[in-house]
Amino acid sequence: MAGRCHVILIGPQGSGKGTQAARSAPRLGLRHVATGDLFRHLMQRDDELAREVRWYYDRGALVPDEVVLRVLLQRLDELEEDADYRGALLDGYPRTRAQAEALDAVLRERNDCIAAVIHLAVPRPVLIERLGGRLICPQCGATYHRQFSPPAVDLRCDRCGTSLTQRSDDTPEAIARRLETYEQQTAPLLDYYRARGLLIEIDGARPIDAVTEALVEALQPLLADRP
Ligand code: ADP
Ligand code: ADP
Ligand code: ZN
Repeated sequence: MAGRCHVILIGPQGSGKGTQAARSAPRLGLRHVATGDLFRHLMQRDDELAREVRWYYDRGALVPDEVVLRVLLQRLDELEEDADYRGALLDGYPRTRAQAEALDAVLRERNDCIAAVIHLAVPRPVLIERLGGRLICPQCGATYHRQFSPPAVDLRCDRCGTSLTQRSDDTPEAIARRLETYEQQTAPLLDYYRARGLLIEIDGARPIDAVTEALVEALQPLLADRP
C-alpha cells in the first residue's frame, strides 16, 4: 500500500501552531493531529494514565516520550480507518530528539514520508502577549484570543457555543517553563530537519490570515503529487 505524507509544524508556544493547523489542514487535505489536544481530551478521564499526564501537563513539563508516542500512535491508527485520510499535520510532535527518531522509525515501518517541516518563527515578547490572552473551547478545542481572535459572542465558542476557558497551563510560571523547554529540547530539531533539506521557515509574527496563506502556498506544491 502507498504510504502517507505528513507535515510537521514546529514553533514555540504561542507561535500559532494550533491556529494555523486548524485553518490550513482542510485546505491541504491533511488531518490536524495535536498531541496537546489529545492530552487535554485524555485528561477528562479518571484513570491512571489521565492522572500521570496531568502531573506533567499542569507543571508545563513534557510528558515522557513513551507515553506521548503511545497516544500519538493510537490516534494515527484511528485515522488509518478513514478512507479519506492522506496524511497528518503534526502539531506539537516531535519535541525532543528522541521523539523525532521514534517518529522516523514509525514512518519507515509504515512506508510513510515527511513532506516538509515548517518552522513558525515568532519573537518572544509576541509569544508572551499571545499566550496571556489565549482562550480555548474545552469542548471542541478551538483556539481564540481576547484581542487578536475573539469569538463573535461574548466568550462563547463560535463553533459549538461552549463557554471558553483559559488553559490550566497558561499561567506565567508554566509559560516561562514551557518556553525554556522549547529552547533547550525542541529548537535543536530545526537543525535535525534542516540537514535533511526538509525545513521551511515561515514568519509567524504576521496577522493570522497572512500566515495561513504563506503556509498553504508553501505546502500545496509539495503535497500536490501525492499518491
Ligand atoms: P504548548 O505548545 O503551549 O506547550 P500543547 O497544547 O502543544 O501546548 O501541549 C500542552 C502540554 O501537553 C505540554 O506542556 C506537555 O505537557 C504535553 N505535550 C504535548 N505534546 C507533547 C510532546 N510531544 N511531548 C511531551 N509532552 C507533550
Ligand atoms: P500554539 O499552538 O503554537 O501554542 P496558538 O495557535 O494556540 O499557538 O496561538 C496562541 C494564541 O495566539 C491564541 O490565543 C491565538 O488566538 C493567538 N494567535 C495565533 N496566531 C496569531 C497571529 N498570527 N496574530 C495574533 N494572534 C495570534
Ligand atoms: Zn467549541
